[in-house]
Amino acid sequence: KKIIIAIDGYSSTGKSTIAKRLANALGYVFIDTGAMYRAVTLFALEHNFISDQVLDSDSLVNALSEITLRFVPNSELGKSEMFLNGENVEKQIRTMDVSKYVSKVAAIAGVRKKLVALQQEMGLEKGIVMDGRDIGTVVFPNAELKLFMTASPEIRANRRYKELLDRGEDVTFEEVLSNVRERDYIDSHREISPLKKAEDAIEFDNGDMGLDEQFERIHAYTLR
Ligand code: C5P
Repeated sequence: KKIIIAIDGYSSTGKSTIAKRLANALGYVFIDTGAMYRAVTLFALEHNFISDQVLDSDSLVNALSEITLRFVPNSELGKSEMFLNGENVEKQIRTMDVSKYVSKVAAIAGVRKKLVALQQEMGLEKGIVMDGRDIGTVVFPNAELKLFMTASPEIRANRRYKELLDRGEDVTFEEVLSNVRERDYIDSHREISPLKKAEDAIEFDNGDMGLDEQFERIHAYTLR
């Protein structure tokens, strides 16, 4: 029987990596909801709804109807890429610039309303692995399997730092660590759908666990 698997947790806990692998192994669809919030943030930056570090949330909410988001499968990469209004924005949404503002954009009620509705639609077809911050609590409170991923901020920042360096971004470890801390704080303290573990979620600390071990343990949960 195909199920819904919800993977939530703090920033850079490796949710997407494990979700992607799980989806491939099970023949499920993988949905990275962070990419959707990142694409809306990119849109806000491109339309100057963010300037001098100030976010004009009213203008952004008014413009939401102009935004079309689509995940397009790329068989070479073995994953889907995010398209914003027909354009592949997979690279742009992963930059530090987007990371700096995404949690502020994700705290806007109108933005969450639109994206949660889209995510619920994507879940109509069962057999999905969805990762985010509110999947087990808000998007799919009835998901059959819920995981909540954690690891120390330093370990998480280090993973993200290496990723950004690999992509040629000019960042320091301190910048990445403070961004990870700031996003965790905003995500867990916002008014709407704050990041928290669903009561029935399995907490999974992967701080000192390699990918293979994580995958094996989590895959075992799907067989129960
Ligand atoms: O998962 P990722 O780090 O790409 O998510 C970027 C940001 O998007 C998070 O820090 C959070 O502010 C927001 N987000 C959210 N709810 C989700 C997924 C992401 O608020 N379901």
